[in-house]
Amino acid sequence: MSRSPSLTVDLHMHTTISDGRLAPSELVDLIAATGLDYFSIADHDTLGMYLQHGEMLERFGRRAISGVEVSTFAQGRELHILGYGVPIGPATLDGVLTDRKSVRRERAVQIVTKLQEQGVRISMDDVVRQTGGGMIGRPHIARALVESGAARDISDAFERHIGSSCAAFVPSSTLTPAEAIAAINACGGVSVLAHPTRNAAEELLDSLVDAGLRGIEVWSTSHLPHDAARLRTKARERNLVMTAGTDFHGPTEANPRPGTSVDAEDLQGFLDLVLR
Ligand code: AMP
Ligand code: ZN
Ligand code: FE
Ligand code: FE
Repeated sequence: MSRSPSLTVDLHMHTTISDGRLAPSELVDLIAATGLDYFSIADHDTLGMYLQHGEMLERFGRRAISGVEVSTFAQGRELHILGYGVPIGPATLDGVLTDRKSVRRERAVQIVTKLQEQGVRISMDDVVRQTGGGMIGRPHIARALVESGAARDISDAFERHIGSSCAAFVPSSTLTPAEAIAAINACGGVSVLAHPTRNAAEELLDSLVDAGLRGIEVWSTSHLPHDAARLRTKARERNLVMTAGTDFHGPTEANPRPGTSVDAEDLQGFLDLVLR
């Protein structure tokens, strides 16, 4: 079987503007040192990377693709829709990204209050100390729970305190995936289902395609090795473009650097759409 050349890409990364552990400049330096062929910083519910730090990405030219990961909620589960190649401006994805920072802060207050009612000793100050002054997410609450001794580690914090089946859970958004997809497509962006195996999002794939979904994250560190082959087949059957990302939130022992390798041919459909 002949194979096309392989590319090293990471189309799904986070900074301290949302719940990543590296500041924008630190992540950009790591990306440069790693030498990715294409990448996208796709923070949760904000284009802050592009609105405030766009100049950091100029040196990468077309290798840097704009992105955002929009939180949505459908049928009792959280689904993340990635939006790539959206035009950058203060009104981009109005109605989808507007007020997200204050809504997320208010939601964190609700979660912390519920935890306190359950006898967990944690305060909003503990949580805010974990952030970089940007979007507050559950990972910040998880880190505060670990620091206060209420959880052994991050997984334990999600499992026992703030996961979607826990009593203290509050969704971050009431936006539906169809609304996010429509908004991303309407401004010329490419809508992609993030980590489709999480929360059984894959089960809703056909309804998302009916809503206008353009692509699917086929290679993700959330997947098991056999998931990618199945998702690739589903993408081809439904005429969806394919993307690859590690959902990089900062270096870990298992993944000290961002990036994953993908067949150039498999990424071409996405590149054709986003680099038009
Ligand atoms: P939020 O958008 O505030 O609901 O937080 C969701 C984020 O929490 C995801 O994007 C992941 O980064 C992280 N997350 C969700 N579930 C887990 C888990 N079980 N363990 C570790 N991190 C998780
Ligand atoms: Zn995250
Ligand atoms: Fe996500
Ligand atoms: Fe993510």
